[in-house]
Amino acid sequence: MQVLKSSQGMIPDPNLPNRAAALRRYEEFLPLLPRYARERSIIFPDRLSVSRMSAYVRYRLIRESELVHKALDHYAYDDVSKFLDEVCWRTYWKGYLEYHSAIWTVYRNRLRELEETMPEIQRERLQQARDGVTGIECFDVWVRELTETGWLHNHVRMWFASIWIFTLRLPWELGASFFLQHLLDGDPASNTLSWRWVAGLHTPGKHYLARAENISRCTLGAFNPQGELNERAAPLLEETTFPEEPLPHATTLTGSLFPCLSLCPAGLVVLPEDLTPEIGEFSEMPFSSICVFNASDVMDSFGATRRVRSFVNGAVSDTATRLAAHWGGQELWVDGTVQNRHNRAQPANVGCWEHPRVYSGNVHNWVDSILRWATNENLNSISLLQPPTGPWQDMMPELRAALKARNIHLVEFRRRWDVVHWPHASRGYFAFRKGLRDRLLKLSGEGFRAKAP
Ligand SMILES: Cc1cc2nc3c(=O)[nH]c(=O)nc-3n(C[C@H](O)[C@H](O)[C@H](O)COP(=O)(O)OP(=O)(O)OC[C@H]3O[C@@H](n4cnc5c(N)ncnc54)[C@H](O)[C@@H]3O)c2cc1C
Repeated sequence: MQVLKSSQGMIPDPNLPNRAAALRRYEEFLPLLPRYARERSIIFPDRLSVSRMSAYVRYRLIRESELVHKALDHYAYDDVSKFLDEVCWRTYWKGYLEYHSAIWTVYRNRLRELEETMPEIQRERLQQARDGVTGIECFDVWVRELTETGWLHNHVRMWFASIWIFTLRLPWELGASFFLQHLLDGDPASNTLSWRWVAGLHTPGKHYLARAENISRCTLGAFNPQGELNERAAPLLEETTFPEEPLPHATTLTGSLFPCLSLCPAGLVVLPEDLTPEIGEFSEMPFSSICVFNASDVMDSFGATRRVRSFVNGAVSDTATRLAAHWGGQELWVDGTVQNRHNRAQPANVGCWEHPRVYSGNVHNWVDSILRWATNENLNSISLLQPPTGPWQDMMPELRAALKARNIHLVEFRRRWDVVHWPHASRGYFAFRKGLRDRLLKLSGEGFRAKAP
């Protein structure tokens, strides 16, 4: 069988960063679901053993709950439990990082420290790894696949991270950062914590070692790095401990919402952490104005590549169009800076159903843009789905303080999916998995099923 050796894979199409493409991709994958448990670790040339949905799921262009509910519409739980498990790994990682957000802060600080203190010889090795010229053929091909497509199969990510850490002996933080810059699905929780898992830091003492035999078998003989890998390395150790922190406060979304009059005119801020606010609990809320921005300062903070930025920009623009259609609103394009304007909200409309203005685009400075938008729109309150730990959450203290100074009330919400699952995510995956089936079946039957438009 021909095996993909370079970047010809059926990755999430960077030209299709929209919900319609996500739904289509999942419809195409559904008939293949029963084979997932058996075949998901094999790297077939077309990558069809896995869904390749991650870039869509990461920004919630399609939600985890939708993947689960649709799978359960077609199959019995036990026939697709492996797939449901994997979907929930993503939820688990996000919840875990909420309980241990210091991992993210320490990782970010360490990146800065490494920039300054790394010895020259290690810098050279790092450059070779980033350029894909290490001489380890499989690794070099995967570097090209990552940088040219923005996606890698899960098994490849595991081998890649393991070779980076244990064979090339490079700091795991720099590998995680390299992934985050290039992956279309780059996610602070799944990425940082998976790298730590491979290194043996998530489950202390248990690391993941890439083995030539396993690579050869699962790439169907495309690669055989016999004698090139360090297959006897010990797990990494770390001195820092990360005690459990309380979950950040957020209001639970449990049913249809209507703001009280004192909060009107009410605005909705949509972040690329959750791009389907029109489905579910927010869907009937009478917002006066909505904004959905990508922001250069946020993308700069982790060095996102042009491909990643363009994917997020496209997803934002698709979302604005959907939201304008859903709320019967008017779409307004912003390029770089929100201009100061006179107030737009009509006092007579306060508390009544308005056709909201939907602002979208790529802004230079996210907090500044939200402030200008909220002031222009004369908003009394802003609702937003609280971003999880990561670059968007890093901006929140500044936003909270700035809105407070202007007397604009900020209401931070959390999806019911996260509210139900995260409390089980503070420790290991096995603790999280206990009761997972009951939680998924309960959520499926509770009327929170996502309705595709
Ligand atoms: C070192 C390393 C780094 C990773 N970095 C990221 C990242 O930045 N963003 C990201 O979304 N995933 C990351 N993953 C997890 C996983 O590799 C990808 O989610 C998966 O490969 C996406 O392909 P797919 O959509 O075909 O997955 P499928 O196997 O079809 O699974 C369906 C969905 O379940 C979720 N999922 C599946 N496996 C995992 C997993 N192990 N962890 C978390 N979620 C999972 C994804 O949302 C995925 O789209 C990383 C894994 C490793 C080992």
